[in-house]
Amino acid sequence: MDGPVTERDAREVAEAARESEWRRESFVRDLFDGKARLDLVDPYPQPDAEDEARARPFLEALEAFLHSEVDGDEIDRTGKVPPRVVDGLRKLGAFGIKIPREYGGLGLSQHSYTKAVRLVSSVDGSVTALLSAHQSIGVPQPLKLFGSEEQKKRYFPRLARGAISAFALTEKGVGSDPAAMETTAVPTEDGQAFILNGEKLWCTNGTVAELLVVMARTPSRVVGGRERRQITAFIVETDWPGVEVVRRCEFMGLKAIENGVIRFHDVRVPRENILWKEGAGLKLALITLNTGRLTLPASSVAVGKRCLQIVRRWASERMQWGAPIGRHDAVAQMIGTMAASTFAMEAISELCSLLADRPDYDIRLEAAIAKLYNSEAGWRIVDDTVQIRGGRGYETARSLAARGEPAVPVERIMRDFRINLIFEGSSEIMHLFIAREAVDRHLKVAGELADPHAPLSRKAAAALRAALFYATWYPARWLGWGHWPRYSSFGPLARHVRYLDRASRRLARSLFHAMVRFGPGLEKRQAVLFRLVDIGAELFAMAAACGRAQMLRRASGADGGGATEMADLFCRQARRRIEESFASLFHNDDAYTHRVADQVLDGAHRWLEQGLVRERLPPAVEEPAPVEAGRR
Ligand SMILES: Cc1cc2nc3c(=O)[nH]c(=O)nc-3n(C[C@H](O)[C@H](O)[C@H](O)COP(=O)(O)OP(=O)(O)OC[C@H]3O[C@@H](n4cnc5c(N)ncnc54)[C@H](O)[C@@H]3O)c2cc1C
Repeated sequence: MDGPVTERDAREVAEAARESEWRRESFVRDLFDGKARLDLVDPYPQPDAEDEARARPFLEALEAFLHSEVDGDEIDRTGKVPPRVVDGLRKLGAFGIKIPREYGGLGLSQHSYTKAVRLVSSVDGSVTALLSAHQSIGVPQPLKLFGSEEQKKRYFPRLARGAISAFALTEKGVGSDPAAMETTAVPTEDGQAFILNGEKLWCTNGTVAELLVVMARTPSRVVGGRERRQITAFIVETDWPGVEVVRRCEFMGLKAIENGVIRFHDVRVPRENILWKEGAGLKLALITLNTGRLTLPASSVAVGKRCLQIVRRWASERMQWGAPIGRHDAVAQMIGTMAASTFAMEAISELCSLLADRPDYDIRLEAAIAKLYNSEAGWRIVDDTVQIRGGRGYETARSLAARGEPAVPVERIMRDFRINLIFEGSSEIMHLFIAREAVDRHLKVAGELADPHAPLSRKAAAALRAALFYATWYPARWLGWGHWPRYSSFGPLARHVRYLDRASRRLARSLFHAMVRFGPGLEKRQAVLFRLVDIGAELFAMAAACGRAQMLRRASGADGGGATEMADLFCRQARRRIEESFASLFHNDDAYTHRVADQVLDGAHRWLEQGLVRERLPPAVEEPAPVEAGRR
């Protein structure tokens, strides 16, 4: 199957890589089914005391090292993480935080790793990328999850000592959709090895890595009469013949990220370097990312906290129009929202890290929401911080310092942050991933009804199954007590928890209504699906915020040092956003907007692009002159 990749091919590849089973607990999975499992967030999970005690000296040493040795502005200016910083991190064990102790790592939990990420991200994004590309998605994590004992013995000690690793999936034609992968791994005649050929794009750490996880196409297999593309993950050593760093890429931010184009020319990879098994590469990548994705939410929290600190100082000292700018209502609105959002982001990140450490918990949906929610909320915080700093928000730290003002690096923070909404699953892909799981229960019951390839007999059976299922499922999504005195133990937050309880049933009903209304076409109504996902994400954020405030209140008495107020404000704002999403679920301008977008893409509105200097680069395709407005 080497022709052009069709939509069906792309979907089949994605479906084959999906974990189809749900055997462990999941708050979000149940939420979309109309059940608010508050017992999973209250009591808020607690860290393991032994792990915390072992992590403490490491985290203290890391903080001291970052404080004295890491200058984010210098790293940004020079485009290099200094070797002494990389070596210092190696000595601290920062390249093996989660690698088991028997192989030379620190053997710490996801929760402790999250804390380390927060510390690093509070000083420099490029250093976060270095550590995270290595151990969130690089070799250590898939090796821990899927490696053989022999592979672990061979590679873990090297990785723990600081052999840098990277993850190579993306290619020119392979971004969010891996179906068109062109890198191939062809078995040798004796079957002992594979010959790797191809080129990988944007591989973070790739220019300095010793070890790579490389995704490559291995020979297709016939499943159910159809040829299925196979993608396999290999551990590749960069000093093997045929591995070449073609170039280092440059970006808007993260100036010191060691990211590049890596070429493989007839690289011989021994069969024993397959991770997990042949054909399981994409599934491995998705499962690795379930926890790997928790780095960015933690790093967003650190940025939120840093921005809050910058804004608190600046907005209380900067006087304009006879008052500190933070006392003017417009700025105060931003600051209050920023504080409440930072609290919720931390609640989400902590909750997900703690749940990820539980073997009986399935973190995949929560991690996707955490990535989506914290990167989006973090971006709004960064944007508001630039606004509140005014002209100084746009000025580089170096220029500020040269003028004798504090070198506040908001401009760098903004450049470094933007990519968080794109890599490790863009916001759009996270929405689609969550939406797919949200409708999964319904697809299992009634999916065949909408399948054009299903024979009539199977459709009839599906119709009966669906009728029986929905006869009880649907009425139950109207029943349930989400009013006083339920959840009174949450004190001032009880009303939000009751709302959450009611809204979870409304969400499940709305999802069902959308399926009935649009049928199989729902898949194409991304704006509708995204609103449903956003409601679920806001409800999860509310649950995390209330659970955390409740925990802090119990621990410190009174209002948990202000946590109740933060959770209260966050929930009030989240509820407004949820109500807006519900209101515009079926009453919106989606179809109109899509129609205009189609016209734009078809060139009908090129008149809007008139009045520009001609491009220096010739357009890829020769375009006819645009027709003026009103002459069409
Ligand atoms: C700094 C940096 C570091 C990176 N590090 C690594 C790395 O270490 N390893 C690695 O393998 N890759 C890495 N990447 C690649 C990164 O993961 C991809 O950029 C990302 O997956 C998106 O792919 P793309 O850029 O090709 O966008 P595309 O997939 O082309 O998407 C473009 C836009 O279309 C949207 N879109 C795509 N499909 C759909 C759809 N079905 N519905 C709705 N919207 C859609 C996307 O959300 C996005 O907004 C890195 C990239 C950068 C810039």
